[in-house]
Amino acid sequence: MSNASQNPKVGFVSLGCPKALVDSEQIITQLRAEGYETAKSYDGADLVIVNTCGFIDAAVQESLDAIGEALHENGKVIVTGCLGKKKDAAGNDLIQSVHPKVLAVTGPQALADVMSAVHTHLPKPHDPFQDLVPPQGVKLTPKHFAYLKISEGCNHRCSFCIIPSMRGDLVSRPIADVMLEAENLFKAGVKELLVISQDTSAYGVDVKFRTGFWNGKPVKTHMTQLTTALGELAAQYGAWVRLHYVYPYPHVDEVIPLMAEGKVLPYLDVPLQHAHPDVLKRMKRPASGEKNIERIQAWRKMCPDLTIRSTFIAGFPGETEEEFQYLLDFLKEAEIDRLGCFAYSPVEGATANELANPVPQELREERRARVMELQEGISKKRMQAKVGKTIRVLLDEVTPSGGVGRTAADAPEIDGVVHVKPPFEPHRKLKVGEFVDVTITAADTHDLWGEA
Ligand code: SF4
Repeated sequence: MSNASQNPKVGFVSLGCPKALVDSEQIITQLRAEGYETAKSYDGADLVIVNTCGFIDAAVQESLDAIGEALHENGKVIVTGCLGKKKDAAGNDLIQSVHPKVLAVTGPQALADVMSAVHTHLPKPHDPFQDLVPPQGVKLTPKHFAYLKISEGCNHRCSFCIIPSMRGDLVSRPIADVMLEAENLFKAGVKELLVISQDTSAYGVDVKFRTGFWNGKPVKTHMTQLTTALGELAAQYGAWVRLHYVYPYPHVDEVIPLMAEGKVLPYLDVPLQHAHPDVLKRMKRPASGEKNIERIQAWRKMCPDLTIRSTFIAGFPGETEEEFQYLLDFLKEAEIDRLGCFAYSPVEGATANELANPVPQELREERRARVMELQEGISKKRMQAKVGKTIRVLLDEVTPSGGVGRTAADAPEIDGVVHVKPPFEPHRKLKVGEFVDVTITAADTHDLWGEA
């Protein structure tokens, strides 16, 4: 039955309506694209996929019979399609209770889930002569970290931003696709996954937090459930997950305990842009009514190791000296760990350019410099507090004199680095993409120095 000398063969039974047929076509296309072959008979297949129908009783019975036959004739069966969602009288999954030996069950339109089950139960060795792209896709980042884009576009209309006019409203990727990409990246050796979007907290809003399937289990298209699932997956591979562009909606509070438990990195990139409520109103920022100081304090209480990164705009149109001072007072109190501040830049097409009382360029720059000066002191103090601690570092670079890496508090490209002296053991060489525990011996405003 096995085809050891050839590509793996998958048998396919397609039942149901034209929508199910399209699902079958997509699965078969993907199988072929990945180099799997289709088998014409049960005994010529290494695995069988049954796409089921659950519309009327007769169709249910036909599907259950087809699964039974495939199990009897072949033994390795993955089930997809409408019947995958049906429950029996006791509320259990119908297919699992009738045919407990099936390897995986998904609902309809679950290409990524089906492919993930195929990869698990019938992995295909990567063939460099046949496969044009590696399973994790082509990545522009170094091999040990990768960006995972979970959505495109944005439903907000911040007055300084033209992204929605270029990229349109929010479109969230199906959760199973996101998880499959994450799994492929981890399998390919990625040690740090950086979750990105325009607005990570809004993930799933456009699809009303639709339930998808991952590993045969229902998962909602929602930031909290995605973060939980990614954290669990990353733990299997000993990898990090870092969240970017998280707007401070109330449900962000649910993610902080996951950070405290070490499921995802205790790192929150929240672009606040300003602190004064009137400026935030003119900016038309999402979640601007939240009490951000109280939120930050509560998050730090829940997760004392939390690193907060944020960006701010100085000299937004109409910003008075009093509003600017309010921002400085906020920053003094909030003690943001990693902060970027930009002087307002009138991007062409941004509605903020039409607001009254624009701040002259020179003053915008001056205010930016004042923010950065204040932040320098805060940053220095927070970095100094790390001296003497032993912190886990992911190495990005190995040099003759040691290595350069990052802690949980440092995202690549935008935050600081740790300069690592090599370990004491003479034969032990540092490697790029390796985690090392580093005792911190010195710090400046952005970077750390330590010994592995
Ligand atoms: S700045 Fe505002 S409008 Fe622009 S992408 Fe972010 S949330 Fe959306």
